Amino acid sequence: MKFYILTLFPEMIENVLGTSIIGRAVERGMISYEAINIRDFTLDKHKKVDDYPYGGGAGMVMQAQPIYDAWESAARRADGPVRTVYLTPQGETFSQAKAKEFALEEDLILLCGHYEGVDERVLEEIVTDYISIGDYVLTGGELPAVVVVDAVSRMVPGVLSNRESGETESFEDGLLEYPQYSRPEVWHDRAVPPILLSGNHQKVDEWRRQQSLFRTRERRPDLLKTAHLTEKDKKYLNFE
Ligand code: SAM
Repeated sequence: MKFYILTLFPEMIENVLGTSIIGRAVERGMISYEAINIRDFTLDKHKKVDDYPYGGGAGMVMQAQPIYDAWESAARRADGPVRTVYLTPQGETFSQAKAKEFALEEDLILLCGHYEGVDERVLEEIVTDYISIGDYVLTGGELPAVVVVDAVSRMVPGVLSNRESGETESFEDGLLEYPQYSRPEVWHDRAVPPILLSGNHQKVDEWRRQQSLFRTRERRPDLLKTAHLTEKDKKYLNFE
């Protein structure tokens, strides 16, 4: 899968995506990305990419021309029609389900806004998906873009090793994951739950399922409305 990230600050993207599991996946050729500098496409002789908003008001607006030309250069290289995501606080809230959906694409273009935002006319022409990473306003779309690239890349087959498998993770079956423990057995007088040392895999699985249910009820009760719950789960939760 290839990500084309249209941005005024390519170094923000490269600094994050070059490391850890995503960096390794890029090195192995399982995913690739290109941070495309929108400024390289401006036709303005002073390299300007923004201007004052029509109608007045605070801040600057990113202009349509350089964004469109940067997008066109990426879209031309992508294989066929390509989904184009604009990162914006006005979009649909990003989710694990959306990450899985995007991971089915061969190419994805991500547009990062800055300043007050982007001229609406270019958005109307190129954007297929409006995505927000939460109900707060950031200074630019670069951090949201790397959040999306990270979450989507993890869903691309082969990016996670078996040891990092995402199968039991939070949101996989609509629940939060159970708590995790590692060595030592006792730390700051806190012992690891004895069941995890028992070697009884069935009991461990049951305990983890219960913890997952209790944790979801405590921290994200909204998820229980749509989670896949068995009769046994409902009993644990005292739903009956
Ligand atoms: N004036 C815009 C508004 O009220 O919707 C906010 C502009 S914001 C300061 C600058 C850029 O940051 C946006 O164009 C967008 O690309 C990005 N951004 C800010 N918050 C975001 C969020 N929660 N999710 C995704 N992108 C965001």
